[in-house]
Amino acid sequence: MKVLVINSGSSSIKYQLINMENESVLAKGLVERIGIEGSRLEQEVAGEEFEIEEEIADHEVGMELVINTLTDDDKGVISDVDEINAVGHRVVHGGEYFDSSVIVDEDVKEKIKESSNLAPLHNPANLMGVEVCEELIPEAPQVVTFDTAFHQSIPEQAYMYALPYEYYEDYSVRRYGFHGTSHKFVAQRTAEEMGEDIEDLKIITCHLGNGASVAAVKNGKSYDTSMGLTPLEGLMMGTRCGDLDPAAVPFIMEKEDLSPQEMDEVMNNKSGFLGVSGISSDTRDIEEAAEEGNERAQLALDMFAYRVRKYIGSYAAAMNGVDAVVFTAGIGENAIAMREDICADLDYLGIEIDEDKNDVRGETQEISSDGAEVKVFTIPTNEELVIARDTKELVAE
Ligand code: ADP
Repeated sequence: MKVLVINSGSSSIKYQLINMENESVLAKGLVERIGIEGSRLEQEVAGEEFEIEEEIADHEVGMELVINTLTDDDKGVISDVDEINAVGHRVVHGGEYFDSSVIVDEDVKEKIKESSNLAPLHNPANLMGVEVCEELIPEAPQVVTFDTAFHQSIPEQAYMYALPYEYYEDYSVRRYGFHGTSHKFVAQRTAEEMGEDIEDLKIITCHLGNGASVAAVKNGKSYDTSMGLTPLEGLMMGTRCGDLDPAAVPFIMEKEDLSPQEMDEVMNNKSGFLGVSGISSDTRDIEEAAEEGNERAQLALDMFAYRVRKYIGSYAAAMNGVDAVVFTAGIGENAIAMREDICADLDYLGIEIDEDKNDVRGETQEISSDGAEVKVFTIPTNEELVIARDTKELVAE
């Protein structure tokens, strides 16, 4: 069985064709700058990359190009579009409608549309990917996997905000959480690495990428997570501010004469690592600047580590203990010094990492000190594989 995994964004389509017999990636690629100048497709097959630069006016043209490339005589990996047995899509927001992946039908599409007001930049683009595939790969069943689904198990006391209750009833204002597919995947892999049943474990999963969130996974279920109604809440991120006093928002808007949209832009795109350091949103640039003595770069790194550490402490408290901590995504998998900083001073919880074992990038590895009470791991995330597995399972039913 071959599953095509699609992540359709507002101006891009990321894809992977996965052979589910052995879960190998046959081809992966990216269509970018859809509808703007300089649009292109990039595909990788067996470590070899190639690129096509041509005008890609919309998602339909982009998806056609993906199919043509996958079935190309020379560079393709399948001979006909019929070889794609199912398509799995990433959808950002499932609201309170979805606690797992589902097969697409009219009702599902309607609910994705209804959830769009909670993710106006993502859901419409995700849905467009579904609709284009329905048209171009009509024989293949389509499945959607939601970033929010895994966190639907979070109890009410953790997902409610202490605002007037009507805002929850009228506008669905509550914590949803994101990166669910990744938190679920690395929590499961952690249990496997430990040789234990996930039902018996309390795991804190740290997805630290450009977007970053922490989750408390208790007995295999999400129990709390740091992102909220939108991905802005929680940790400091590449360009997002994360937690702050809500009263700072109207205060700054008044001082700077900003509209709600402009303030949203400041908090989502001009804050975080970029805002504090004034240098970049990328931790690699910040680490380099800090090494050269830039104090604001060092401050940004210290703030990030401190905040992740605080969340680990609070989730250990929320779950009444912790058996394992796992780091994933760009920073979590690669930033050796950052992992060390985060885990410093957590020894009271039984969290201690081994300097030699921690000297690793992009691999699955236990990095805790021998004999430490809490196991610490780095595990590369693989959201595409989760989507493909869910798709296979649902289609087989
Ligand atoms: P996203 O999927 O959210 O865009 P990723 O999970 O790919 O993000 O993470 C990207 C971030 O990971 C980069 O912005 C960078 O800060 C960080 N990163 C990647 N490689 C390294 C590295 N070797 N050292 C430190 N940070 C890294």
